[in-house]
Amino acid sequence: MLKKTNAKKKILIYNMLDLIIYKEIEMTKIVRANAKLASYKIPTRVFNVPKDTNGNPLRVSEYFGENVFNYKNSDILTEQDKKSIGDVISKKADFSKEMAEKYANAVLNWATSKGVTHFTHWFQPLTGSTAEKHDAFLTIEKGKPIEKLSASQLIQGEPDASSFPNGGSRSTFEARGYTSWDLSSPIFIRTQENGKTLCIPTAFVSYTGDALDIKTPLLRSVTQLSKAASRFLNLTSGKKRDEEKVTNVDVSCGCEQEYFLIDKSLYFERPDLVMGGRTLFGASTSRNQQLEDHYFGTVPDRVLAYMQEVEVELYRLGIPAKTRHNEVAPGQFEIAPIFSSANIAVDQNQTMMSILQSVAIKHGFVCLLHEKPFAGINGSGKHLNWSMSSKLGNMLEPTDTPHTNYQFLATVAMICEAINRHGANLRTAIASHSNDHRLGANEAPPSIISVFLGDTLTAILDAYADGKKYDPSDDTFIDLKADQLARLVKDNTDRNRTSPFAFTGNKFEFRAVGSSQNVGIPMTVLNGAVASVINEMNDKIEKEIESGKSTDEVLLNLTIELYKNSRKVVFNGDGYSKEWEAEAEKRGLPNLRTSADALKVIADAPKNNFLTELGIYSANELTTRFNVRVERYVKHRLIEFNTLVNMINKDVIPATIEYKNLVATSIVNQKSAGIDAKSDIAVLTGINNALNTLMEDKAKLIKEMDAIGHDEGIEAAEKIAKELLPLSEKIADSVNYLEDNVAEDMWPIPTYYDLLFVR
Ligand code: ADP
Ligand code: MG
Repeated sequence: MLKKTNAKKKILIYNMLDLIIYKEIEMTKIVRANAKLASYKIPTRVFNVPKDTNGNPLRVSEYFGENVFNYKNSDILTEQDKKSIGDVISKKADFSKEMAEKYANAVLNWATSKGVTHFTHWFQPLTGSTAEKHDAFLTIEKGKPIEKLSASQLIQGEPDASSFPNGGSRSTFEARGYTSWDLSSPIFIRTQENGKTLCIPTAFVSYTGDALDIKTPLLRSVTQLSKAASRFLNLTSGKKRDEEKVTNVDVSCGCEQEYFLIDKSLYFERPDLVMGGRTLFGASTSRNQQLEDHYFGTVPDRVLAYMQEVEVELYRLGIPAKTRHNEVAPGQFEIAPIFSSANIAVDQNQTMMSILQSVAIKHGFVCLLHEKPFAGINGSGKHLNWSMSSKLGNMLEPTDTPHTNYQFLATVAMICEAINRHGANLRTAIASHSNDHRLGANEAPPSIISVFLGDTLTAILDAYADGKKYDPSDDTFIDLKADQLARLVKDNTDRNRTSPFAFTGNKFEFRAVGSSQNVGIPMTVLNGAVASVINEMNDKIEKEIESGKSTDEVLLNLTIELYKNSRKVVFNGDGYSKEWEAEAEKRGLPNLRTSADALKVIADAPKNNFLTELGIYSANELTTRFNVRVERYVKHRLIEFNTLVNMINKDVIPATIEYKNLVATSIVNQKSAGIDAKSDIAVLTGINNALNTLMEDKAKLIKEMDAIGHDEGIEAAEKIAKELLPLSEKIADSVNYLEDNVAEDMWPIPTYYDLLFVR
């Protein structure tokens, strides 16, 4: 173990030689003991605004989307070709073989002109991340090298995908999985520091047609919701002429992505971060987020350089990054794009996460997307903003008179009913070992899915449901009592931050989604839940209107009926409070505390009927997902436990013994000098006791892990969630005591102070 003094000397030498000590290899060597000393020297990578050939700065609008293929800009497609492609994309026609060849050729021409040599079918297997296998455009034809991308290469691929999780739905000997081009999401060029790849968004299915990915069920759910919502609008929008019929409802999504940045050199000093993305222990600092001074504070320079480089990359890829700011916890930040269509938003969020991580490395940071990298301070979520809109407008727009906007009220009531019926499925959709730390753990809000509607909307719906008259009081403006300031129109929602599913003005915001998750899964379940309720209501509405009732009357009755039934899921109070947990239990709302509890819902067939009936998941696909997700839960936790044991053995115990020795020597010396060593003995005893407890608990953990062996089923998951995770947290408490009490220059692992405050 290298001591701080040594590290200091080496840093001095490096400084004298004027070496950039920013290379993590050297860093790791020098700062074994205390990396924060070295990071004071870390230079900010300068952000260069993109420039034209004359050196003038480019506007974002001038390079926005330049790495996305747009057939309309192709030089080698004729106007007639472009029209035919447009018809295919708007689903008015099928791709002919000939057109597909032309399209592939146009893509090839565009990509190679930008120096791209390889292409990949880019897909989202059940791991939750993205997968790619690169193939060169290079082909040898008649002995000559040429670049080629055929229609069949564009449309279908057959990666050797036997190593992707398949939950038992394929045997390895027949492990064929096919990728199939998703026309609705643009083809793009992913630029890395040392190479460019043409990425073709694809679905990933087995040869029996089972979806092996996240995209396929999402696309099915969007189709189902669009169908249901279109029919609802056509039934309830009054007597519109046939040609004005709504044929498509767009499901829109905007993801607010939270993340942490830590110094790269420190990252490699923490095997827990490298192996599992979170610190498995770490004593709290005296000041963390209690002053709330980081939130919306000035972005540190080094971080701003990073953020801007991320944004340039995103803009080139046509991803409209809009908002950036410091988040609540120290070292935590957020980025949010302008919303787009569900499928594109999911693809873009996956790309955004990947870019956040790759650009961070260039700036000497590591971007942590884990939901809870640090205990005791806020974790990271990903608010999934969601709405439905058609050519008639946004279905969740309350307008100026929400109380008489019956179509809007019925839409909200149907969504409440969807959450009321299928809240457990939504909880399941966001269950993961990492998100468990944000949902239902000791310091997290309970994992109860409720709906926040805000004061105005709740008052309107309550009034109707209770047979009272709603009085739109004159409170639409906020009086700031300062004449110089413009009067603000009051938001219809007071933005309750503690609700997992909140109405925020003209959209719902599913806030319990985890920062590292693929939002495709929760959105699929949400779309399916809402589509199934709308379908059921459409049949009723149709009958009632046929029986001669007015549309308004039908909609209002429906709203009242649904809202009365689902009112128990509406909660506008503090969702983080203990009172709510008790209240929710009284109301009969499920509280699935751990992934082990939540994942069981996938195996409960009747609870998933709404999804299978709509064809969003087949029964077989659900089984696959249950197996894969339980297995991944177990694997992730075992990796964490093994890492914890390893760090204790290799770092914590040696450091503690070294310090104990120092104190013991001091006690002996003092005693031989005839001095009372009371304080030293107290220090030594405290440390010794903590170490003893730690050793016992660690032995217990190892024994339990041995007992689990290779079991990766639900019983193992339950044992881990209910017994081993709490045991590992108890172990962390002992380690934290040692960290707080062993001399700083002997503690070999970067602390929360180093990780969160050194910039
Ligand atoms: P806040 O943090 O106050 O919730 P932000 O502006 O950070 O709001 O993020 C809101 C997100 O919601 C953005 O991604 C935005 O594009 C998205 N959004 C806005 N309107 C809609 C809508 N109708 N449907 C889906 N997403 C939307
Ligand atoms: Mg926000």
